[in-house]
This record gives sequence, C-alpha cells and structure tokens, in this order.
Amino acid sequence: DARLRAAFDEGELHVRYQPQVDARGRVVGAEALMRWIDGTCDPVGPAEFIAIAEESGLIHLLGDWCLEAVCERLVAWEPHLGSAFRCSVNLSAAEFLHPDFVERVGDVIERTGAAPHRLRLEITEDTVLTDLEFAAERMNALRALGVEFSLDDFGTGYASLTYLRRLPVAEVKIDQSYVARFLEDPADAAIVRAIVDLCRSLDIRVVAEGVETRAQFDRLVEEGCDAFQGYLFGRASVPPADPRSLLERP
Ligand code: C2E
Ligand code: MG
Ligand code: MG
Repeated sequence: DARLRAAFDEGELHVRYQPQVDARGRVVGAEALMRWIDGTCDPVGPAEFIAIAEESGLIHLLGDWCLEAVCERLVAWEPHLGSAFRCSVNLSAAEFLHPDFVERVGDVIERTGAAPHRLRLEITEDTVLTDLEFAAERMNALRALGVEFSLDDFGTGYASLTYLRRLPVAEVKIDQSYVARFLEDPADAAIVRAIVDLCRSLDIRVVAEGVETRAQFDRLVEEGCDAFQGYLFGRASVPPADPRSLLERP
C-alpha cells in the first residue's frame, strides 16, 4: 500500500517496547511492537498495517528495519541489562520463511554489535504449520547464532503438541484471550494449567500475555508462569534509557 510505504519513508513508523516481568515484578525482558504515528489521521493499529505490509511484500523492509532498531536499542541498553534480559521481535510468516532470512539476521547482529543472546524471535503456530522440518532447520540455524524463539498467541492457532516437541522453542506465550477469561472460566483455567504443566516437563518457559489485573497476575504466578506481560506492568512505550523504567508502577 502506497500510504504505508510513504509513512515508512516519512519516518512515521516507530518501535515501542512493552516490559515483561518475573513473578516478583522485576523487568526481565521486553517486546518490540510497531506503531504507525502520523499525527493527522487516526492511528492505524499494527494488526491492520502489518496485514497490509504482508500483502504488498513491504513486510520484509519493515521487518528488517524493526530488527535493526531493536538490535541498536539492545546495544544502548546493554550496560543496564541483567544477564537474562531479552527483547522479543515479532515475525510474520513471510519473513521467517524468506530464503535470506537467516543471513539477514546474522548481518544485522554483526552490523549493530548486538549480543545475539539478547534477541528473541516470536513466531506463531501458523508460521511453522506448513513445513515443520523446514521450520525446525531454520530455527536451529538461528539458534546457532544465539537467538532464541518464542511461540506467540499459543492456543489460538492450529496448535499441535508435536510442535513443542519437535521445534527448538525456548518460550511459549499463553494468548491473552485465555488470560482474560481464566479467572471466571474453568475451561480456560484448565487450558492454562495444561499449558504450564506441559511446558514445564518440556523445559519451556511460559509467558502470560495481556495481564491487566493484580488478581490475574497473582493466579498466574500460582499456576507457575515464568514471565508476565500486560497493561498491569506497562504499555508499549518510547524506549527509556534504562529498560527498568518501562514499568509504569515500579
Ligand atoms: P502480539 O505479538 O500478540 O502482541 C501483543 C499485543 O497485545 C500488542 O498489540 C499489545 O499492545 C497488546 N497488549 C499488551 N498487553 C495487553 C493487555 O494487558 N491487554 C490488552 N488488551 N492488550 C495488550 P499491538 O501492539 O496492537 O500488536 C498487535 C499484533 O501486531 C501483535 O500481536 C503482532 O502480532 C503484530 N505486530 C506488532 N508489531 C509487529 C512487528 O514489528 N512485526 C510483525 N510481524 N508483527 C507485529
Ligand atoms: Mg508478540
Ligand atoms: Mg501474542
């Protein structure tokens, strides 16, 4: 879409960062989220403009730019970071599947000097659906660089438990729809518990997304989730000098 391309050229796209905390509320990571801020029109949400970018192929340009911005941010943050801190970047299927993708990630890491073990790539179940072998190979190649993988929106796609076994996934993100309902809905609570149990036995970390209330947080801690992300801790915001400042209520 020409408008999106123009917006990109005009510098109207920005990378914002949302904090992730551990069970004690300490910042242990962040997720990079793209924003289109043009000052005149209503803001277009990423779900909408990412879909446009995917259709037009612009996603590769935007994705490379986002990855580079995150790597530069990680370099700037490095003096403030604890050893386990990682920043997540979302990948569209087309980005992950592009023939040059592994090479491009390697290049951007080298060019920026970012520590590869600070980088985490988020993919969805649908991205790996068509060719599990290929996905596993590609993920292993990236893992060899030090990058780790997170399975986003877990429980909403064509989830298959074999994915968790066959893919080198370090982390699973329980979709926010479960987090929103599990306190009231016993079926959702059972699913959350099953995901946590399964991931624990496979040595995969569990992150809960969309945590908005203290009650949700407390229960998710009890259930054994490892990390938490949501408006309760902070929205996606302009990167501060110290990532601990991403917390809205420290
Ligand atoms: P996602 O990766 O699942 O990101 C989480 C979404 O949940 C974000 O929406 C975030 O702002 C929102 N969120 C976080 N905490 C809460 C909460 O407590 N309550 C509620 N209701 N929502 C919360 P956002 O930023 O609108 O992004 C939507 C989707 O767009 C993302 O979903 C991701 O799939 C995609 N996206 C965003 N940035 C990028 C990007 O740079 N590249 C690609 N390929 N996709 C992106
Ligand atoms: Mg995500
Ligand atoms: Mg998600």
